[in-house]
Amino acid sequence: MRIFRMPIWLHRIYPRYIWRIPTQQQHLYLSFDDGPDPEVTLYVLDLLDKYNAKATFFCVGDNISRFPEIFREILNRGHKVGNHTHHHLKGWSTKWNDYRADIEKCQNMMGPISDYPLFRPPYGRIQSSQGKKLITMGYSCIMWDILSYDYDKRLNIPVALKRIIQGSRPGSIVVFHDSQKAKNQLKQLLPAYLREMTNRGYRFHYIPNK
Ligand SMILES: [Zn+2]
Repeated sequence: MRIFRMPIWLHRIYPRYIWRIPTQQQHLYLSFDDGPDPEVTLYVLDLLDKYNAKATFFCVGDNISRFPEIFREILNRGHKVGNHTHHHLKGWSTKWNDYRADIEKCQNMMGPISDYPLFRPPYGRIQSSQGKKLITMGYSCIMWDILSYDYDKRLNIPVALKRIIQGSRPGSIVVFHDSQKAKNQLKQLLPAYLREMTNRGYRFHYIPNK
């Protein structure tokens, strides 16, 4: 069974990570992982503009180096970017020195940690010792409250849409992917989600640095 909204025990086991932004207001925090991609990222940017929505893009360094103009476009349109490693590494199976070097490689394409402190571990998989060290270095480890499963080509779209809409609440961090793999699902989920949550009175913001 897919878990669309992360359970509270997960927040309690990993309190150092950020799962949700504390707010009473109807604010949602969209995030897009694995880009930039010349087709899918631009599709997302245009759609977000229609709703005057701001979001956070957790970019893969290797994709930034392939598509630097798309990366700049994300920032030019008023969104924020975060580090998603250079090669989309799985923390569980990567030694710290290699993991850190890969994160630094991605960071070098963005700017100093003090300006770009948001990090999201690929697959949400990170050893707790790695997380601790990254926080010491100045990073905020951003997880999520709502997972869309848009990367799953077999996703039942109406069911997923219903679950992510029902699960969303003030301060939810929501994960989508601006990738080729997620494209078809994303194009069905994101417009409907933006429309419905806007009708319910929600606004979309990027994740604050602290
Ligand atoms: Zn990813």
